[in-house]
Amino acid sequence: MTVHDTQLNKAVDWLAQSRRVAVLTGAGISAESGIPTFRDALTGLWERFEAADLATPRAFREDKALVWGWYEWRRMQVLSSEPNAGHRALVALSQRVEDCRLITQNVDDLHERAGSPDVVHLHGSLLHPRCFACGHPHVLPDGIPDEPEGGRSIQPPRCERCRGYVRPGVVWFGESLPTLAWSAAERAVRECDLFLSIGTSGQVFPAAGLHQIAAQQGKPIIVINPGELADGRSRELCLRGPAGEVLPALMARWSAIDP
Ligand SMILES: [Zn+2]
Repeated sequence: MTVHDTQLNKAVDWLAQSRRVAVLTGAGISAESGIPTFRDALTGLWERFEAADLATPRAFREDKALVWGWYEWRRMQVLSSEPNAGHRALVALSQRVEDCRLITQNVDDLHERAGSPDVVHLHGSLLHPRCFACGHPHVLPDGIPDEPEGGRSIQPPRCERCRGYVRPGVVWFGESLPTLAWSAAERAVRECDLFLSIGTSGQVFPAAGLHQIAAQQGKPIIVINPGELADGRSRELCLRGPAGEVLPALMARWSAIDP
């Protein structure tokens, strides 16, 4: 972690002055719990596939069992993972600010399992599949799915309403973001006093779009990410490091300054 004391103090100062905070999280915070990022997701049995070729409506039409099998494999990874110190620190943050709205690009449920309520999922969720034909939600059985026997394909379940095939509840390439989730995210950023971006480069839509709204409106922005960060704007504070280290350090500093 290369965050300096002065940066942490400044971040605490900004947070303490904010009544409404909008938080956006990306793949980085899930990766710290051992969930591979989308681009790194194809290992083992899935090595010779391209994520971009599996995550489309067309791929599902052409080979439902292959695509469903891949998402079941990813769901298995998610359910075998645990929330980390970064997820938990965000719960603590939400308890300190008057109005904290959490938006995520992640399709796992680690924020919910850490204790964050009302998470806005911009890219849907692996845990909430629905019918490909009629959109009716499908309830998955409890527990962690088994590895498919002798291969990677798994037949998707059928819709209880129309007998259509059930598809993963995530946003695929070529699909638009869920309208309600996007408008909730946009509203949260427009109404916030401070925008906190975690574990995302912020360069690609939708993260870039939300970042831009915050910047255009002159909101203070805090970015937490391990990679090289584009800095320079005066209202933008970059804390370089993993969320699981920076966020707990930030909350600890806040408690030390103002118990
Ligand atoms: Zn249906």
